[in-house]
Amino acid sequence: MTFKRFFLLLALAAPLALAEGLPDLGEASQADLPPQMERRIGESIMRDIRARDPAYIDDPEINAYLNQIGARLAAASPDVRQDFEFFALRETTLNAFAMPGGFIGVHSGLVLAAQSESELAGVLAHEISHVTQRHIARSVGKQGQAQMTQLAALALAILAARSNPQVAEAAVIGTAAASIQTQLNYSRDFEREADRIGIQTLDRAGFDVRGMGSFFDRLQKFGRLYENNAPGYLRTHPLTTERISDMENRIRQAQYRQVANSTEFLLVRAKLRATQGSPAEAVADFTAQLRERKHLSAPAAHYGLAVAQMRARDFAAAERGLGELRRLGTASPMVESLAAELRRARGDLGAAERLYREGRARYPQARALLYGQIDTLLADGRAREALEAAAAEAQLYPSDALLQGFQARSYAALGKRLQQHRAQAELYALRGQLVAAIQQLELAQKAGDGDFYEHSQVDARLRELRARQAEEAKQKLPM
Ligand SMILES: [Zn+2]
Repeated sequence: MTFKRFFLLLALAAPLALAEGLPDLGEASQADLPPQMERRIGESIMRDIRARDPAYIDDPEINAYLNQIGARLAAASPDVRQDFEFFALRETTLNAFAMPGGFIGVHSGLVLAAQSESELAGVLAHEISHVTQRHIARSVGKQGQAQMTQLAALALAILAARSNPQVAEAAVIGTAAASIQTQLNYSRDFEREADRIGIQTLDRAGFDVRGMGSFFDRLQKFGRLYENNAPGYLRTHPLTTERISDMENRIRQAQYRQVANSTEFLLVRAKLRATQGSPAEAVADFTAQLRERKHLSAPAAHYGLAVAQMRARDFAAAERGLGELRRLGTASPMVESLAAELRRARGDLGAAERLYREGRARYPQARALLYGQIDTLLADGRAREALEAAAAEAQLYPSDALLQGFQARSYAALGKRLQQHRAQAELYALRGQLVAAIQQLELAQKAGDGDFYEHSQVDARLRELRARQAEEAKQKLPM
């Protein structure tokens, strides 16, 4: 286990300590863990992953893609009562996992191993089904007392298990995770249920259900290759012969359907590959792919090569690759944002901003282009324009925490301290971090600037969040 990972696990143990101080939940509704509690636990683990896990991939295009395919699957899933958030971790292992509260993580290794979008969708549909069927809550609920402690330890074990086997072993030292680990492994019934509902979901969302079968086949082959070290996915979702034949039966009953990979799936895979390892390795890899024609798509290989060349600071070559992409007619906001990033990497902030703006006119839904534009404006000392863009879009997407973060940065650049802390508070509130949000509003009160109107807004919002905090304390939700 690396030191960094150990630190992460220690950090994650913090909510554990908090959890132990909580009284038990009482006898009412003992059966299941309340959804609000589950969400709060998920949010607190997510906060630690975002802040401390070096493997967390903080890339708006990759996040947007995963959340788009995830939302499409969730919409097709029966019985959806909650929000989902999908994210990626830079890990070569083949794994995906559902955390409490609808947070679903996927390893970059798994995305790269998927040979079609339907295969990736199959794994995500399976994870979504663990969430909609409330398998985590149901496992924990059965334990009776001390549910919180168990669930927090369970969350810890999920994170340990998602990584390599050595990590999983080392992580159990000093925690109760050893026994929890076995409880974490979903029961066979839960696995069967997640397969059954996952296949239905995959079908309703318009993917090729055979993707589920072919991917599990490939995972199993990997498993054989590794002998005792089966990929994490197979350890946490044990694949039995019974499960495979069950799945094969269901897949046989489904209608044959040819489904093309989306451009974004292909480009996201290429971006994940192009941003791992050293720039020189990535350039060599895509050059070989193109030379030997060993790729799922030529445009994606050209895109990956251009991204790798930009990392290697070979800007002229990257520009040529971009030209090739345009010649091939590859239409995607990711191509527009690569063009803008390339300008920015060459130090031409004005041209980069213009390319982001033009890209947004063509793809108004692509928020990565908006983020890129605002970030470039800030780097170019144009904080007022950055603020205008962020505030206007925040009206359209009030739950977008990043837009609040951009507003906070813009206000900071403009020297408006009250508004800076107020926007930062909204970012925390959107991520379920009430304590941090309240702290920011208290800082806003003491900022020493702002007019009467702004101060009353801060006071009102602070009263609102404190009331919410009191309410949640009554329900014994973790903060
Ligand atoms: Zn499973």
